[in-house]
Amino acid sequence: MKQSIVMVVLLALASPAHAQLGGLGGALKKAQQAREMKQKIDDLTFSEEEERKLGEDVSLKIRERFGVVQDAGVHKYVMLAGTVMAQQSERPTLPWTFIVLDTDGVNAFASPGGFVHITRGALGLIANEAELAAVLGHEIGHVTRKHTINAIRKNNAVKLGSDQAGGRAALIAAAANAVYDNIIENAYDRGDELDADKVSIELTQKAGYKPSTLGDFLNRLAERNTSQKERNGLFASHPETKERITKIGQLAASAKAAALVEARYKTNIKYRPTAITSIAVVTEGAAGLAGAGGKEPEKKEEPKKEEPKKSLGLGALRKAVAQEKPTAQVSASGGARGLGADRAAKGGSNPNPVKVSVSASEVDAFKKGIA
Ligand SMILES: [Zn+2]
Repeated sequence: MKQSIVMVVLLALASPAHAQLGGLGGALKKAQQAREMKQKIDDLTFSEEEERKLGEDVSLKIRERFGVVQDAGVHKYVMLAGTVMAQQSERPTLPWTFIVLDTDGVNAFASPGGFVHITRGALGLIANEAELAAVLGHEIGHVTRKHTINAIRKNNAVKLGSDQAGGRAALIAAAANAVYDNIIENAYDRGDELDADKVSIELTQKAGYKPSTLGDFLNRLAERNTSQKERNGLFASHPETKERITKIGQLAASAKAAALVEARYKTNIKYRPTAITSIAVVTEGAAGLAGAGGKEPEKKEEPKKEEPKKSLGLGALRKAVAQEKPTAQVSASGGARGLGADRAAKGGSNPNPVKVSVSASEVDAFKKGIA
């Protein structure tokens, strides 16, 4: 791994030197190109097709990291609940896809273009269909409000990645690495989290589910996490969970919708929660930990190693340049240290999506059951 860092640093250093070789004209041209590149990043926009491609790339990384539950029944159920919610959203026509990840860790991840992932562990902790809908609604909010895409505008790895030859394809590959890092580390802005909660409240209300169930789930999650010192997995990023629960309570206070749909949930989802202390985590030296770039957990139990990854985002940059698979390049230096158990949780080995289709009439029938 040290080797790749050195390689990246050399690449980064090579750029300005290269500019000098072109003489004054070359330098001016380079400066112009740099301005254009900066503009391109500032205005970074993706067509819907590019957003989907980006989302597919990111989803593959997530699936390779955690594996996919190979159960069509479970997928069909989550797909139906997710589709009902997505149809109420600002972007109902996206090809929404809901994927159940094969890990005991409690988490959910939204990827651009309409991919929503939820873990087996989260389904085990969720008590009813309304809670499921609320969690999916939060992730749908990250997609419809383009939070992940907005986040990568600030990411140096994408800027540098897009500087390499290869144009749009290289830009999207670099962006996919940065988005993956952000998603795995739950590195959303505080405002984005509250915004996604708001979307969840709106969508659950519209679909007929009791909106305050998002707060119920967060409360249960907080109780489960009381032994954890560090921020941990789903909904554990900014802002602090308590503040979010309070805001959710205020937003949901006037809601009329009241369906919980507990029986149908229990019929379709048989998973039981795993105590956080019993979750198997990916250990030191094993592949598959979350990316090394991007933001760090706030609390650390040990002094950091000398690796300069924090300030420079080298982990992400390394990936952007080397374009390695997330399971191959990730640093194991974190181990479970300083990472929440949900984020470091072991995943299944099969990344293949479980393809299920839901027809309009199936969705309609499903909606009738929300009462
Ligand atoms: Zn979120």
